[in-house]
Amino acid sequence: MTIADELARRSKLWEQVSAEDADNVDPSTLRAAHMYGGAQGIWVDKKTTDTLAKDGHGVTVAILHTGRHYPDDLSEDGLIYHYPTTHRQPGRDAAEIQATKNAASHSLPIFVILPGTNSSAKRSVRLGWVVDFDDENRQFLILFGKDEPKYQPPPSADMPFALTGGQTPGKTTAKTRPGQQRFRFQVLSKYGCKCAVCAITHRNLMKAAHICGKAHNGSDDWRNGLPLCSTHHDAFDAYLFVIQPKSLIVETMPGVSPLSIGITAQMLSPIRGQPHSEALSWRFSQTKKRWAMQNETGREERHHQRRQHDRPVERDMHRQRRLVVFAIAEFQVLADMCAVYLAVRMKKATFIAPADVFVFAPLRLDLGALHRCQFRVARQLECLLVNRSSVDFVDRNERRCHCR
Ligand SMILES: [Zn+2]
Repeated sequence: MTIADELARRSKLWEQVSAEDADNVDPSTLRAAHMYGGAQGIWVDKKTTDTLAKDGHGVTVAILHTGRHYPDDLSEDGLIYHYPTTHRQPGRDAAEIQATKNAASHSLPIFVILPGTNSSAKRSVRLGWVVDFDDENRQFLILFGKDEPKYQPPPSADMPFALTGGQTPGKTTAKTRPGQQRFRFQVLSKYGCKCAVCAITHRNLMKAAHICGKAHNGSDDWRNGLPLCSTHHDAFDAYLFVIQPKSLIVETMPGVSPLSIGITAQMLSPIRGQPHSEALSWRFSQTKKRWAMQNETGREERHHQRRQHDRPVERDMHRQRRLVVFAIAEFQVLADMCAVYLAVRMKKATFIAPADVFVFAPLRLDLGALHRCQFRVARQLECLLVNRSSVDFVDRNERRCHCR
């Protein structure tokens, strides 16, 4: 058996599976076709692939991703797969890791086995290509596709940088966005697995934030990214803090203390690496504009409240009509929510970015509730739901979000 034979075998099997229904494959079919052989994470099938690699570790045929531990690692275009860490006999994990690296060096695709879409008794299968690995963070980057993808490794710090671009325009969400896993993988591998503004290092809590966001067509270059923990990713999206481009000092929004949002670093402090100054400068000026706008809105609010105070009869009326609102198209990642309209008063809406919700909203809004997509529009609130393609109006009587 040669590499070319094995490539032909895997391609043919993939053709057969995808011709039927790759999201409804019976486990017995996978076993019979020698696509996946058991319950373990990495399946090498030593018998078939032993001779393909000189190191004697074989070449991985399939990997299993259950999504139980790392649900964020899977998207439509690829998967970040963590190296196995088991208590099996010594060397077993290392051999499987090597066999998976061999798939990359021999340009052989692997079958990625996922839980069935419709039934837990079935499996979904993807054809994946191991395009990169990171021994420090112990993870592989696997991209899906019929043909081997053109993967570009992360550029070095002194290579030309583009703040924007490189995206396919159109509707994308956190799940379908091309390049999403590649961006996460490269951000973590270039900066290390630690939040850039606090001490958190646990990989389950680590996110890759865009400095110039996707809403502004920000690029997927790692130098337009930052490793942030979940909390600081949200806080960054909400413009609660910014990084001064030259000094790298972490500056919080006026009125917000670093301590109150858990920022422990005075200066940007990833393990290594530094974002591009162009990205930081862009973000800095955007943030300053927002802070100024917020200040203005606050002043207007206070002025209005004073006027209302002079007219007590109308005050309640006004409160009822007071509109604070927001709209959420994608709850998973605040930065990706298509748009939020927040209006302080009826008929007067100011467009702001979604994550400003918590900055602007005078009512206390529960972020957890947003994430659960269960949030109810509180009484006396009206909500404009703005999606990229459609605009829904949530009536105050309905008090329920239409987005799902
Ligand atoms: Zn953090």
